[in-house]
Amino acid sequence: MVETLSIAVIGAPGVGKTSIIRQFIYNDFSEAYTPTRSRYVYRPSVILNGNMYELKVLDVPPISSFPASASQEWLDLRCRGVRNANAYILVYDICCVESFEYVKMIRQQIVENEGSSSEVPILVVGNKRDLQRQRFMPRRAVSVLVKKTWKCGYVECSAKFNWHVVLLFKELLGIAVARGMRQNHTSTRLQGALQRNRCTVM
Ligand code: GDP
Ligand code: MG
Repeated sequence: MVETLSIAVIGAPGVGKTSIIRQFIYNDFSEAYTPTRSRYVYRPSVILNGNMYELKVLDVPPISSFPASASQEWLDLRCRGVRNANAYILVYDICCVESFEYVKMIRQQIVENEGSSSEVPILVVGNKRDLQRQRFMPRRAVSVLVKKTWKCGYVECSAKFNWHVVLLFKELLGIAVARGMRQNHTSTRLQGALQRNRCTVM
């Protein structure tokens, strides 16, 4: 049986959510900014440690807050499926402090919503690593805050140069598998796309 894992990708406008997803699935990047206006679902398949997973990756358009109730989610088309996601990727731009504040707020709301016993995997992603010289906070400081205080995973990547993009999905899936799917964790292999556009061996 193939496991399906739904992942909601959330972040402030322009941080690179769509770019990360499209680089991961299509090996494609565009310099031009096309704001995502409606929710979009990508369904790639991946192989991790010899197991196949079907991912449902939700590219969530800008939302002012995490949907606080099922009815709120139902009323706002943009956040359909966000509350029931199995895992979250919260993206910010390492050069934009406001985008980090947004991620901080959403993380807080996810945790409050799930309750204290929550083990839902959350990965914070600092994108635009290629613009490292303009970053607002040293990598180490953010990493410590996110990992130690927020208890989330942390990865920096560059969607533009496809740097650490596969890694971040691998990291998140690794956490999800360890927490929810309870399968034996052997060493992970990282390979290129198995079948372009559809399946990635991680
Ligand atoms: P979204 O609104 O979060 O989906 O952001 P997009 O993926 O549409 O990207 C917003 C803009 O940032 C676009 O112009 C992208 O070309 C650019 N961008 C995305 N990722 C990177 C990156 O890693 N480095 C740089 N320099 N630009 C990026
Ligand atoms: Mg977008």
